[in-house]
Amino acid sequence: MMNTPLLLTQMIERAERYFPKKEVISRTESGIHRMTYAQTAERTRRLVSVLRKLGVNKGDKVGTLAWNHHRHLETYFAVPCSGAVLHTINFRLSPQHVSYIINHAEDKLLFVDADILPLLEGIKEQLNHVKGFVIMTDQNELPETTLSPVYHYEKLLSEGNPKEPFIQDLDENSPAGMCYTSATTGNPKAVIYSHRGILLHAMALGLVDNTGISERDTALPVVPMFHVNAWGIPFACVWFGAKLVLPGPAFSPKLIAELFEAEKVTISAGVPTVWMGLLKELEEHTYDTSSLRMILCGGSAAPKSMIKEFETKYHIPFLHAYGMTETSPLVFSGVLKSYQEELSEEERYDIKSKQGMVVPCIEIKVVGLDGEIQADGKEMGELLIRGPWIADEYYQDERTEAAFVNGWLHTGDVVTIDEEGYVKIVDRTKDLIKSGGEWISSVDLENALMAHAGVFEAAVIAVPNEKWQERPVACVVLKDAYKDNVTKEELLEFLAPQFAKWWLPDDILFLSEIPKTGVGKFLKMALREQVKDLYAN
Ligand code: ADP
Repeated sequence: MMNTPLLLTQMIERAERYFPKKEVISRTESGIHRMTYAQTAERTRRLVSVLRKLGVNKGDKVGTLAWNHHRHLETYFAVPCSGAVLHTINFRLSPQHVSYIINHAEDKLLFVDADILPLLEGIKEQLNHVKGFVIMTDQNELPETTLSPVYHYEKLLSEGNPKEPFIQDLDENSPAGMCYTSATTGNPKAVIYSHRGILLHAMALGLVDNTGISERDTALPVVPMFHVNAWGIPFACVWFGAKLVLPGPAFSPKLIAELFEAEKVTISAGVPTVWMGLLKELEEHTYDTSSLRMILCGGSAAPKSMIKEFETKYHIPFLHAYGMTETSPLVFSGVLKSYQEELSEEERYDIKSKQGMVVPCIEIKVVGLDGEIQADGKEMGELLIRGPWIADEYYQDERTEAAFVNGWLHTGDVVTIDEEGYVKIVDRTKDLIKSGGEWISSVDLENALMAHAGVFEAAVIAVPNEKWQERPVACVVLKDAYKDNVTKEELLEFLAPQFAKWWLPDDILFLSEIPKTGVGKFLKMALREQVKDLYAN
């Protein structure tokens, strides 16, 4: 067979050639912006020429600090199609972490949204390699800034070459992108994505037993474009000619629901907290969401009660998936097998709330203390992964050695796997509650609590305990309508029939909100810090 290279250039060239009329809709600072793939491709070519003029060479890292919009999409393609490496930066990390990752990556140029400038202004003295800042704005004039030198994205593009050729003769294993995991301990770790990896991953998003993204779709990634290639959706959409809807800055559940209705979105993706917010919005107001054929949810465990509510109350099919920054990210997706459709409703939702079955091309192993575990849905072990879109190291980081062993990525996720091959994430090793020599899954307790009608969000954490080593404590946010009439005793009674007695939380704290990471996951480290004095032995 021919060994033709798998390069991102073919994705954008395909959109340019075969889907020039298809649209990219963006919500920007000044409203809804509509563009065709013909325009996207032309602007991408212009941007490639701009990068070259600004001295960005093959292999150089180019950072972005931006919301989901058409300009960010253009950098997704222009940077790798010029031979450079797109480094999407989570601008919700602490300023120290942002400056660490910009320096560690040695970013040469940064693309930044106007409203994110203050973050960079605050750390500009610490940035060692950055040669310039390109500001992405709808305004004709650049905002005032202490950064220098600064360039106006649109002005640069207007001077760019609309026919600029993409890079030729590139090895498919060349780096195309990079992303840092958010750090819960120590500095963030970086993963480099190759052209080949991104392309094969996008191909998997097109499989019908998976997300099945196709030309007929209108996709709205709520997941920020700095979070693991926005799960590959922008790449798949451009390649397959799907319409793309990008929700722009500071969006709300209301705005997402309005975009679903106005643009007839068929598939959307985000973390569970986004979908919990949307459920609340759908409860309070009426929207036409009938165009949706799939809500894709990953990043942390989707509670069964939430999946069920989307499907049974709003008739929106829900797909639970799993992945990591290190895995591009897709590894598992929770599509039912045809014969499982005949199962009872409860049995189906038990399967759908697991993280799913491994996707083609990827291999897994689940290893307990005595080697590979039984596929019985009960025994727990650590998940190991390998495959063509799984990283094989952390970029210039000594933590590589601990995580990548004998060709397998050790995920640090504790899982069970059942006879049908469906994997359930029991917990992250560091969030498991180790009580009296046994393990308690914080995720199981959270999901059970979130099935209570009055509970909006619940996060369960370990608190140190002299006798048992650790004990679970639940932090609960109640729905507004239940604020004064759900008690700790009621919630404990609700949990009691579902768990062994020693699993039940020692305490339930009612909070007004649960701290979240930059991508909307529960920030358990901050919660542990918040409550630690309450339970000091
Ligand atoms: P971060 O470390 O910034 O959260 P990632 O997005 O890479 O970055 O997080 C990957 C982790 O998220 C996984 O190791 C796993 O613990 C968790 N995760 C991802 N998807 C799911 C899911 N569907 N259910 C439970 N946990 C998940």
